[in-house]
Amino acid sequence: MQHVVVTIDGPAGAGKSTVAKKLARRMGALYVDSGAMYRAVAWLAVHYRVPENQEELLLNLLSEHPLELHRSHHGIMEISVDGHPVADQLRTPQVSNIVSQVAAHPRVRQQLTRWQREVGKRESVVMDGRDIGTVVFPDAQVKVYLTASLTERARRRVAELSDQGYSLSTEELIGAIESRDEQDASRTVAPLQPAADAYHIDSTGKSVAEVVDEILILVHKVTHE
Ligand code: C5P
Repeated sequence: MQHVVVTIDGPAGAGKSTVAKKLARRMGALYVDSGAMYRAVAWLAVHYRVPENQEELLLNLLSEHPLELHRSHHGIMEISVDGHPVADQLRTPQVSNIVSQVAAHPRVRQQLTRWQREVGKRESVVMDGRDIGTVVFPDAQVKVYLTASLTERARRRVAELSDQGYSLSTEELIGAIESRDEQDASRTVAPLQPAADAYHIDSTGKSVAEVVDEILILVHKVTHE
């Protein structure tokens, strides 16, 4: 397959990761969850007790404990820190509460953007996040902006978290998601916004398979041009 970059951006809980993972598998491409990289930095801050508003300290932390990125057998990019996989520790409320503040620091973004571009240069990727189509890969062949209604997004996150043993109500989640969206959309550097050439999909009431098929049609168009 020719080298293809697919970007999927959108607010929290729009279904980006589920869709992106399935799409990557169908394409034989690598799935990269850029949010997990920001979460890993937030996890480092929690773990090493570095305040989330201290950019310089966060950068030091990241140079002492760089994110180790590797391709799993399932075609998913995994993150380790100090030789240990961190996936299981990235969705805790502690990490979720500070990740948007961590992600608002321009130099933290610069470093993560550099790593994301390196991965995308090496092989075909489906990468999801907030600024992938606007900043990280402005020349990507396929850009998707995925949304869903706030209630549906909160319901999905409740289900995800309950699978991991956390019990939160939809109402609590609506508040947390709204506040994270607000922070992500209003920051000065790489705010959450659709790329001008992004294809918009509202996943409310749609199955994952439907959304994946819709994007695959776009991918086939560019690879068979
Ligand atoms: O995708 P997920 O909800 O796990 O992302 C966690 C947080 O990481 C987002 O709320 C946002 O603050 C940050 N993020 C970002 N840019 C990306 C991906 C995630 O700022 N490309």
